[in-house]
Amino acid sequence: MSLELREKKRFKTRSEAGTLAMGERVAEMLLPAPKMFVLRGDLGAGKTTLVKGIAAALGAAETEDVTSPTFTLVHEYAGKKVRLFHLDLYRLETERELMTLGLEEMAEEPDALVLVEWGDKFKSIRKKATGEIAISSAGGDARKITVTLRD
Ligand code: ADP
Ligand code: MG
Repeated sequence: MSLELREKKRFKTRSEAGTLAMGERVAEMLLPAPKMFVLRGDLGAGKTTLVKGIAAALGAAETEDVTSPTFTLVHEYAGKKVRLFHLDLYRLETERELMTLGLEEMAEEPDALVLVEWGDKFKSIRKKATGEIAISSAGGDARKITVTLRD
């Protein structure tokens, strides 16, 4: 078993607005680029909501302009310091389909921050990801957010 150095941080929010605001503190942990994070959590956990908050914190997009890339699979937002790629692979099934998306190229951009909802479905992404953001319900509108950096 390899010895991995991990940095972990936990956050808790009580509302959708709280998760949006949390984007600021979470975004700090995701820099400097380039990095790729898997976003883990059930449907409706708040993954896309958190990306809205992160995009706003990075000056890449207004929260209302960030929408779920459910059908388009990838959305790209240009921030001042980073290029934010937001993917949702819920509908994608095979590594072959994934290859046609050009994820490798995105991740190789020196200023790329790649956030992948349902990225843990794919072995190639699990291997390449620099970390993970997990969101889970803590009852009602409360959410637990855990950011783990791999090194
Ligand atoms: P996902 O991308 O994980 O499927 P979304 O961010 O699209 O989830 O949706 C989360 C849903 O949960 C939204 O309808 C939002 O209003 C609701 N919600 C309730 N409480 C929260 C919270 N604390 N954080 C994020 N979303 C919340
Ligand atoms: Mg989503």
